[in-house]
Amino acid sequence: MIRRMASIGRFAPSPTGPLHFGSLVAALGSWLCACADGGMWRVRIEDLDPPREPAGSDRRILEQLAALGFAGDGETIHQSTRQQAYAEALARLVADGAAYPCACSRSDLEPFAGTHPETCVRGHAQGLPTAWRLRVPHGSVIVFDDALQGPQQQDVAVAVGDFVLRRADGIWAYQLAVVVDDAWQGITEVVRGSDLLDSTPRQILLQRALDLPTPRYLHLPVATDAAGRKLSKSSADRPLDANPLESLRAALAFLGQTEAARAAAATPTALLAAARERFRRESLPRAAARVAPRDFA
Ligand SMILES: [Zn+2]
Repeated sequence: MIRRMASIGRFAPSPTGPLHFGSLVAALGSWLCACADGGMWRVRIEDLDPPREPAGSDRRILEQLAALGFAGDGETIHQSTRQQAYAEALARLVADGAAYPCACSRSDLEPFAGTHPETCVRGHAQGLPTAWRLRVPHGSVIVFDDALQGPQQQDVAVAVGDFVLRRADGIWAYQLAVVVDDAWQGITEVVRGSDLLDSTPRQILLQRALDLPTPRYLHLPVATDAAGRKLSKSSADRPLDANPLESLRAALAFLGQTEAARAAAATPTALLAAARERFRRESLPRAAARVAPRDFA
């Protein structure tokens, strides 16, 4: 039997509301991929955008995870405490000439279909607040092999262009924070929803610019409602809290782990232990999206 190298995975929710079925799928999928091989699983709260984060949501998420039987390895990291690390990463990119200040507004960029042109539309000498962007040279084609979705390729210059690392209002961009923290936490495998598949080339580009390792990637199907809309935290009118065991069984079945879902287990912890024993990576569904069971959509 070939043993995989023990990996370090993570679950990194934004505290914009309580967990819903879609976030449970990402938590469970990342936990199974890491823990079935004896690896570690870390929890990181991505709380970088306070206006979008109702007070107490982070605590609520951690309580939900505990009720569902999940225990992270090591300390739970809050990105709001990591600003200094992001500033250092940006300073390094600026020193390397890879990042530049930009005062262009959304309407300035409209004629360019939202993609930043090679030089700023608006100069930054007028004392305007500036964002910082990563310079994405022509030919920045990123190729990677997703462990579930297969070979991926994106020309980042064409698809995205020079992208924001720090917003003009001082908020750190998701792409930079994720890359810095995945490396800092020693993450070797990122397992998350396929809605983030098209962010991955930007993150790989940043890893290269910062001399950071690139983890393996596995993008799970996103849970949708019957109409094909991605579940959102605001639409989570059927929270997972009422019946953690049934929620876990439904998420296991969603991830193709039907035998594990049928295991007799009296507690979430016991069900997770049974699921880890029976986990089959090859049974993970490859679709980019799947309809969630009706009770959870
Ligand atoms: Zn600009």
